[in-house]
Amino acid sequence: MADLVVVGSVALDTVSTPFGKVSEALGGSATYFSYAASFFAPVHVVGAVGEDFPRDHLDLLQRRGVDMEALEVRPGKKTFRWTGEYGFDLNEARTLETQLNVFAEFRPSLSPRHRAAPFLFLANIDPDLQREVRRQMTNPVLTALDTMNFWIEGKRESLLGALREVDVLLINDAEARMLARQPNLVKAARAIVELGPRVVVIKRGEYGALMVTGKDFFFAPAYPLENVFDPTGAGDTFAGGFMGYLAQRGLTDPASVRKAMIFGAVMASFTVEDFSLERLKRLSPADIEERYAAFRTMVNVEP
Ligand code: AMP
Repeated sequence: MADLVVVGSVALDTVSTPFGKVSEALGGSATYFSYAASFFAPVHVVGAVGEDFPRDHLDLLQRRGVDMEALEVRPGKKTFRWTGEYGFDLNEARTLETQLNVFAEFRPSLSPRHRAAPFLFLANIDPDLQREVRRQMTNPVLTALDTMNFWIEGKRESLLGALREVDVLLINDAEARMLARQPNLVKAARAIVELGPRVVVIKRGEYGALMVTGKDFFFAPAYPLENVFDPTGAGDTFAGGFMGYLAQRGLTDPASVRKAMIFGAVMASFTVEDFSLERLKRLSPADIEERYAAFRTMVNVEP
């Protein structure tokens, strides 16, 4: 098993969907990612929270064995907050408010142990911060990055710089179109491959996830669920399953990356079944194995 480092938001989310609302619930890209990845490999979070961040949330991650040595608790600062809503089309979040708070001035300094980790995930956060963490790493075997419209619009140049330094980009469909300035998704993915990453994973919510490399496609369906309550964190949880599996096996070959796509889809399918991390909290390794088997059945065809 190889070490996996993630930098990203650790947040308090206020989210409403047609099925309910939560206020200041545990969220953040690094939170969902690390919780999901912890089922597969040792994961280390780089980030910051304010002094208002509830201790219970830290305990929850600690109980999953997530290493938080590089998660700073900043006195006198407030935690990152995100407020969003979804309509009946749960595929697209509308951001109502983003408060960077403690992340507005966070400058990480990684320990030698973190710098040496072979797997790195630059979760959705300021691309300047993603680049700073990438710069401090010694020589990662695989680096993946996620981002969103907020940064594509607000920090495009820095994001393009970050993309030159990563192997994999995970991004949702609307954001892939926005980044590539190209409405066709296949062309958008190919244009993004030209920007740096050799693998582009386009997440399409209930329509699954498409992987495009220089020469190849792979598609992971989404698990057909009857009850989807809150899609928040689905992308980060997908990434947690994807990177977690690769770090667990210590592999990056094409066949392993395909399996990682399915583990990503498996983990995302749990997150959306409840608000915040509620469904993940009730998850067992046996649930993951069972749903992985269900995915295999779902996509299995005769030659
Ligand atoms: P997703 O997996 O795309 O649904 O990610 C949702 C998570 O991203 C939420 O828990 C938010 O706290 C977090 N988030 C929202 N906006 C930002 C942002 N601009 N930077 C970093 N994290 C964000």
